[in-house]
Amino acid sequence: MNLIKVKGIVIKETTYKENDKIITILTDKLGKISCIARGAKRTNSPILANSQYLVYSEFVLYKSKKFYYINTGEVINTFYNLRIDFDKLNLIFELTKIINNVTDENQDTTKILQLFLNTIYVIEKQSKDINIVIATFKIKLFDILGFAPRTTVCANCNKPLENSNVYYDYVSNRFLCENCTNEDKRRYIKISQATLIAIRYIIAADIKKVFSFELKNISDFKLFGQVFADAMTSGI
Ligand SMILES: [Zn+2]
Repeated sequence: MNLIKVKGIVIKETTYKENDKIITILTDKLGKISCIARGAKRTNSPILANSQYLVYSEFVLYKSKKFYYINTGEVINTFYNLRIDFDKLNLIFELTKIINNVTDENQDTTKILQLFLNTIYVIEKQSKDINIVIATFKIKLFDILGFAPRTTVCANCNKPLENSNVYYDYVSNRFLCENCTNEDKRRYIKISQATLIAIRYIIAADIKKVFSFELKNISDFKLFGQVFADAMTSGI
């Protein structure tokens, strides 16, 4: 039996048989995996905590033909303050749903795991407006996956975006200057210069520093995060 050591966070759990669970773990080495947690529903199970939603652990796993099984687990963080806050948990649930949609087994998810862990640390610490945190997560996630649009020049005429009103075209995932937009503005959202600078920062920043920026008016930033993530999720 080959034992494999990974670090990972549970992003989904489902009941399986009477005492077992199938958990989905976002790992540092194996991508996103499904794992059978035998006996995890028993109150005296040694892997009771490890197999719960949003618990980050070091796991020792083994693989049978089809599935991974948990051999042992050591909790690194349970994010206790988050799991007792229903509103925050709801927001994080949306993030784990997105992660589930865009990741797979054997994919390199090291950066996505790092980003998600940083995101929930920041939300737990409450050091930043949660709407900024959520939008930043979405922008960086799809940047990591290779979907970041160009943010310095208009995608159509190549003129610098500093000198004009800026629009995000969510149908083609491009930033455009005002001259290059159609009369019909329904496929665009207007982006302020401050928001554009924030987006540019997030795309360029290291995952560790991705939340280290300030933004006063967050309405179009929040909208951009939502629209960008929705467009990218539906396109995958
Ligand atoms: Zn243009």
